[in-house]
Amino acid sequence: MAARLGAIPDARTWRDAPLGPFTTIGVGGKADILLTAASSAALAEALRVVADAGVPWSILGGGSNLLVADSGFAGVVVKLDDAFHYVETPVGVGGRSMRVVAGGGLPLSRLAAHVAQAGLSGLEFACGIPGSVGGAVVMNAGAHSGSVSGVLEAVHVVGPTDSGWLQAELLDWGYRRSGLPGDMVVTAASFRLTRGVSAEILEHHRTLLGVRRRTQPRATRSFGSTFSNPPGDYAGRLLESCGLKGVRRGGAQVSAVHANFISNVGDATAGDVLGLMSMMRGTVRTRHEVVLDPEVRVLGGSFLWDQGAEVSD
Ligand SMILES: Cc1cc2nc3c(=O)[nH]c(=O)nc-3n(C[C@H](O)[C@H](O)[C@H](O)COP(=O)(O)OP(=O)(O)OC[C@H]3O[C@@H](n4cnc5c(N)ncnc54)[C@H](O)[C@@H]3O)c2cc1C
Repeated sequence: MAARLGAIPDARTWRDAPLGPFTTIGVGGKADILLTAASSAALAEALRVVADAGVPWSILGGGSNLLVADSGFAGVVVKLDDAFHYVETPVGVGGRSMRVVAGGGLPLSRLAAHVAQAGLSGLEFACGIPGSVGGAVVMNAGAHSGSVSGVLEAVHVVGPTDSGWLQAELLDWGYRRSGLPGDMVVTAASFRLTRGVSAEILEHHRTLLGVRRRTQPRATRSFGSTFSNPPGDYAGRLLESCGLKGVRRGGAQVSAVHANFISNVGDATAGDVLGLMSMMRGTVRTRHEVVLDPEVRVLGGSFLWDQGAEVSD
């Protein structure tokens, strides 16, 4: 399989590739193979080869919502290369509406800044969210009452057997969930935005980034919110009320600024992070009878969350 992947034009492979450096928290082991693709055709061909070989695969975006197991990933990890970092010229689609298509690998915050400069409103909520456009679609990333599903028109996906555009309205959207099948790679997204005034949109960005600076840890490595907010409440509030701010396991620490953030304050391992998550979740369950669901996605390893975050790695 490795030889067949290596022969695909526009694809590159690395064996035993450390994945931690591709994530914002910076922990975890290696992938058997890391593959980058520079075109949808190369990606489709690579996914067919991997599927034919029956080898597990996964896709890594900006790695800002991802915890890689210490044991790494036994299979192929796919990453879109710079060819997927583009924004097409906006097109008018009637009235004040404009359509903007962006590549799946483009950093979401760069897209938000780009459209703000162009005087297009709708992606202000995304100005401080790290990660890629593709990851944001899959996670239905959101903040400040906005989310990707509110402005997304369609996604272009590539899978081992099928590729093409999917209309956003056909997906099963939810809180931090898109309903996209797990074997589909988002290679592009089409957003419906509204003409506005660039200076006002940029001012809105400054306000939202200011809120983020005041309420979230800065200058530490993390993966953002550890747990999703339960219906009608906030994971951060529940965790803080249990006195968990500052609690540490190895190199992983509950942020003193926001109790739903875990910081890698030393040389944290995935085991440290998972151990801390397990303790946080167990404490909230005992104290508040609320079961928190992890928002972070775990790549590799085998973890059982349903009965209180038991971990087997
Ligand atoms: C400091 C900080 C602040 C954050 N604030 C927010 C916030 O306000 N709101 C919010 O929603 N999130 C927030 N996050 C979490 C994270 O940035 C988002 O979930 C983001 O959308 C993840 O995108 P990514 O490209 O990094 O995805 P990754 O972390 O790489 O992957 C996440 C999931 O998406 C899948 N995936 C990634 N790319 C693709 C693709 N192209 N096609 C198919 N599947 C893909 C992966 O397989 C994985 O399952 C924050 C994170 C950090 C570190």
